[in-house]
Amino acid sequence: MAGDLYALDFDGVLCDSCGESSLSALKAAKVRWPDLFRGVDVGVEEWIVDQMHILRPVVETGYENLLLVRLLLELQISSIRKSSVSDGLTIERILESWSALKPIIMMEWNEDRDSLIDLFGRVRDEWIENDLSGWVAANRFYPGVAEALKFSCSEIYIVTTKQKRFADVLLRELAGVTIPSDKIYGLGTGPKVEVLKQLQRRPDLQGLRFHFVEDRLATLKNVIRDPELDGWNLYLGRWGYNTEKERQEAEGIPRIGLLDLPDFSEKLK
Ligand SMILES: [Mg+2]
Repeated sequence: MAGDLYALDFDGVLCDSCGESSLSALKAAKVRWPDLFRGVDVGVEEWIVDQMHILRPVVETGYENLLLVRLLLELQISSIRKSSVSDGLTIERILESWSALKPIIMMEWNEDRDSLIDLFGRVRDEWIENDLSGWVAANRFYPGVAEALKFSCSEIYIVTTKQKRFADVLLRELAGVTIPSDKIYGLGTGPKVEVLKQLQRRPDLQGLRFHFVEDRLATLKNVIRDPELDGWNLYLGRWGYNTEKERQEAEGIPRIGLLDLPDFSEKLK
């Protein structure tokens, strides 16, 4: 087999889901911590959703949005503060230190990853069930991406930390693209480095050139650290959820190519 195989991240590469994930997280946070949100006015909620756009680059998996929503609420309302980190905390510091802050607040709030993932998925399912068009409309594909996927001659795989059923609905309903289910690797299929290994080991995919497009620098660095994945071409999408600082860092890493959105659509063809 000759040609190209593209493993594509979903959120921040194909789809801008930040509006949807922030609103879903706010809904889920109200279910999880109803007392904290009692009496919180719309202005504060809007402020939280706005800040979530700035903080989006730190999110690796959807449930972290819930933690960020609660942390932002703690920043706004000192009387509900329960974590030791929120005094004097700023948005900039969350951006810089999220990986250190996350385990501290999880412990201090006595929260558990799996139940937050379940809750986040459940809240989304309910939103989809009650108002599919509203839910779909809270997402958007980046300009030109749907067409590029439709007309691509390359082998396309989706490798995402999103639950597979949500990626599938958005591809079908919003982009008008059907990607076979066995080509979507979602949350629960293991770390992305393991998915890439599975793909490159498959006998039916031998001979293809492998490309991985991602918007999260930390994920690309995980790939670089693994010598078994030396054959992959790696790209960081500038249009996705990364910061200027991360893009600058990526420019200094020879393995990583930086892509603009039009280059990306062109490559897929
Ligand atoms: Mg992403």
